[in-house]
Amino acid sequence: MRKVLVVEDEKEISDLLEIHLTDLNCEVKKANDGKIGLDLAISEKYDLIVLDIMLPNIDGIEICKEVRKREIYVPILMLTAKSEEFDKVFGLEIGADDYLTKPFSIREFIARVKAIFRRVDAVQKKESNNKIMQIGELKIDTQKRRVTLNDERIDLTQKEFDLLHLMASHPGRTYTREQLLNTVWGYQYNGYEHTVNSHINRLRSKIEEDLSNPKYIRTSWGVGYWFNDSLE
Ligand code: CA
Repeated sequence: MRKVLVVEDEKEISDLLEIHLTDLNCEVKKANDGKIGLDLAISEKYDLIVLDIMLPNIDGIEICKEVRKREIYVPILMLTAKSEEFDKVFGLEIGADDYLTKPFSIREFIARVKAIFRRVDAVQKKESNNKIMQIGELKIDTQKRRVTLNDERIDLTQKEFDLLHLMASHPGRTYTREQLLNTVWGYQYNGYEHTVNSHINRLRSKIEEDLSNPKYIRTSWGVGYWFNDSLE
């Protein structure tokens, strides 16, 4: 699930954006004040920040600059009430990824958000396609689709590899069984929990030393699984 921060002081707009972002399977946090917005933007990790320019206390331009100054490269979509071309360019020069001029249609908003997510996914995919991941004693060659544990080759099925690769690429992120099924299998059907569980169990039996205390693939009880993000 993607996390989105909406910094917007007009409640009607932020409520509307929240509804539609939730429809896009996003977890939404809202701030109606620039100071609160900036604090949230730099203290938590998001997949997207939607940032109004005219805000109480600290304006959106200042927030954007502060975020970038801290080398936080979260995508930022600016909302501006001013339509002058200069303002648009200015918005992009401060490090925002895209902008929308108010009033905008929800359809336009969703299109922009989806485009940003697609770009992020494409970059991540490219990055993960090009590297050999080393996590603990585990080495994942994403191009050759080869996995070794203590330099010993591990034979994985295609789905086991895809599961491992997906989770290892996003350490610390909890995936529900439904999300794993949708991403790795690409569809949904009855009994999915069993399918995911049995694949995870087989994968674990191949890479985990202690099945009662898995080092790599951890269980989030009642939710799903996550890849250990505290390994070197
Ligand atoms: Ca405003």
